[in-house]
Amino acid sequence: KKKLIEIKDLTIHFIVEGEGIVRAVEDMNLEIGKGETLGLVGETGAGKTTTALGIMQLVPNPPGKIVSGEIIFEGENLLTKSPAELRKVRGNKISMIFQDPMTSLNPVMTVGDQIAEVVKLHQKVNAAQAIERAKEMLEKVGIPPDRSKEYPHQFSGGMRQRVVIAIALACNPTLLIADEPTTALDVTIQAQVLTLMKNLKEEFETSMLLITHDLGVVAEVCDKVAIMYAGNVIEYTDKKRLFTEPKHPYTLGLFGSIPDAEEDEERLNPIKGLMPDPTNVPSGCPFHPRCPKVMSICSERKPNNTEIELGHFVKCLLFEEGVK
Ligand code: SF4
Repeated sequence: KKKLIEIKDLTIHFIVEGEGIVRAVEDMNLEIGKGETLGLVGETGAGKTTTALGIMQLVPNPPGKIVSGEIIFEGENLLTKSPAELRKVRGNKISMIFQDPMTSLNPVMTVGDQIAEVVKLHQKVNAAQAIERAKEMLEKVGIPPDRSKEYPHQFSGGMRQRVVIAIALACNPTLLIADEPTTALDVTIQAQVLTLMKNLKEEFETSMLLITHDLGVVAEVCDKVAIMYAGNVIEYTDKKRLFTEPKHPYTLGLFGSIPDAEEDEERLNPIKGLMPDPTNVPSGCPFHPRCPKVMSICSERKPNNTEIELGHFVKCLLFEEGVK
């Protein structure tokens, strides 16, 4: 597939006073093709949201800083664009959906007017046409168009997130970044909103970066998956391969299927311990204190990103030649 966005060697740091440097994102390499959905998976604090803010160039500086790398979007490096050019990209080509719909909605404006406002910014239409388009968008996300005159507080959480999706798509973006878009919703509503996003993405031919901690969501929606741990993408491949042949010990732990050597049988085995304190990441492989396959070299050497077969990347010393 043709590339839409390519993240190359991206590194983002935060300087935390008195505590040092947080390596929020380290040497990240990812790409999303036209119409593709990439799932970015990890625990809280793994660096998923910082990645999204990095792409949008919204990392608060200070304390944050994009230290190095390139973000090639439609052939141009976003990291060398002026603030004015970036605003254009953000408003037109890349839209973002957040976990809490209320952060993106204006409480004192009707939902119809909010969608119409975006439509007017992006299409050459008059006020009446914009309202018509807004109603169509509401219908597309499963909200009766006659509710366009209602305010956000009159809708349920799931409905509000549908309104946010309508607004995001009204810009006709080529890339949609969705940060835990269904986490705050009821389980049944989550499924509905996900299906909706999947269908609309296909209809509008939008590419998507979907940030989630939920492998069920990945299974449902994504084409490719990147697993993050302590700022690093530790495994990256297409969904099918990730689900059938996961390789990194952390990914295996996420699937709860690490075979127990003593008992010589597979059993549910959640990963013991917590993600490291981001200001105090262990030396070598950041996963080594929790890793069931840890070797003595793991606390000394940082694993490189290794392509173990075409399109399947793993950051783990077990897969590096000449290490064991
Ligand atoms: Fe485990 Fe070592 Fe691989 Fe890290 S490098 S995941 S500690 S085996």
